[in-house]
Amino acid sequence: MPGSILIIDDSDKVREQIVQTLKGVSLFDHYHEAKDGIDGFKALINTPVDLIFCDLEMPRMDGFKFVAMVRAREELKDIPVIMLTGREDRELKIKGLEQGASDYVTKPFDAGELVARVKVQMKIKALQDELKRSNELLKELSNTDPLTRLYNRRYLMETLDREFQRAMRKNERLSLVLLDIDHFKDINDAYGHQEGDVVLTAVAEVAQSGLRRYDIAARYGGEEFILVLPETPLTEGMAVAERLRKEVQEMTFPFPMENLTVTISLGVATYPADRIDCVDSLIRQADEALYRAKQNGRNRVEMMSG
Ligand code: GH3
Ligand code: MG
Ligand code: MG
Ligand code: MG
Repeated sequence: MPGSILIIDDSDKVREQIVQTLKGVSLFDHYHEAKDGIDGFKALINTPVDLIFCDLEMPRMDGFKFVAMVRAREELKDIPVIMLTGREDRELKIKGLEQGASDYVTKPFDAGELVARVKVQMKIKALQDELKRSNELLKELSNTDPLTRLYNRRYLMETLDREFQRAMRKNERLSLVLLDIDHFKDINDAYGHQEGDVVLTAVAEVAQSGLRRYDIAARYGGEEFILVLPETPLTEGMAVAERLRKEVQEMTFPFPMENLTVTISLGVATYPADRIDCVDSLIRQADEALYRAKQNGRNRVEMMSG
C-alpha cells in the first residue's frame, strides 16, 4: 500500500518503535516524524500524509490542540489521526476521541494491535474517498445533459434563480440568450435521428466555447439552448449571440451531412427591464425575441422589445 505517515511524539524511542513496526509490514513508503504538535503541523502542511500518529502529551503544542487544528482545515480534516496515550488515561482517551481523533493506541503498544488499527483506519479512509468520488460523479451526472454534456434544464433553472437574485441584490445586469436550431425537424427527416444528434452536439460545443468564467450554457429543451451571462448588458449579449450565429452557420459536418448548413435563431433579453421581474419573465422576453427572429426569416438575432 503506497502512502505516507506522520508520527508525532516527543519520545524518540516511541517514534522509532512505530516506524520499525510499520516498516516490518511495509504499510507505508514515506515516514515523517515530528517532536511536537507545532512541528507536526508544519510537516503536515508541507507534505501530503495519509495517516497520523499523535501523542497526547507533548511540549509546546499537545495532541488535543493538534487534532483540533487538523479538523479545522478543509484539506486536512479527513486524514485519520490515531492518538498515542498512556494505559491509564481513560479520560484523556475519551476527550481525544471527542475532539476528532479517529482511534487511539495505548503505550507501551502491542505491535500486532498497532498494525491492525492502522489497517482499519486506512480502510475507512479508502471507503470515504470512494464515497466522495461517487458523490461527485453523481452530482455531475445529475447536472448534465447526457447527449451534449452541457448543463441540463434542472441545473440551468437553479443557476438562473441564483443569478437573478444576485443581479437584483447587486443591481447588476444579467443577459440571457435563447437559441433554437432552424428547421431541425428537416435535418432529422433528411439524415435520421442519429445524425440529428451529431448536429445537436456540435451546436452545443459552439454554445459552450468562448464562454467567460461565470457564464453557463445549458440545454433548455430538445434543440433549444440557453446561455446565462451574468454582469452582461444587452449590447454585449447581442454580440455573443451574433458570434454564435455566425459560428454555427460556418460549421461543417462529415458524411453524409457534408452539404448541410445549419443555422440558428436567437433571442436576447437582459435584466433589468420594465417587463422583467423574475426568471420566468426574463425567459419569456428572450422567447418572444426568438419568435420574432423566426418570423423575420430565421438565422438571425433579435433583442427583447424595449
Ligand atoms: P424551427 O425553425 O421553427 O425551430 O423548426 P424546427 O423544425 O427546428 O422546430 P420543431 O420544434 O418543429 O422541431 C424540433 C425537432 O427537434 C423535433 C424533435 O423531433 C427534434 N428533437 C428534439 N430533441 C431531439 C434530440 O434529442 N435528438 C434529435 N435528433 N432530435 C430531437
Ligand atoms: Mg509525550
Ligand atoms: Mg424548438
Ligand atoms: Mg427549431
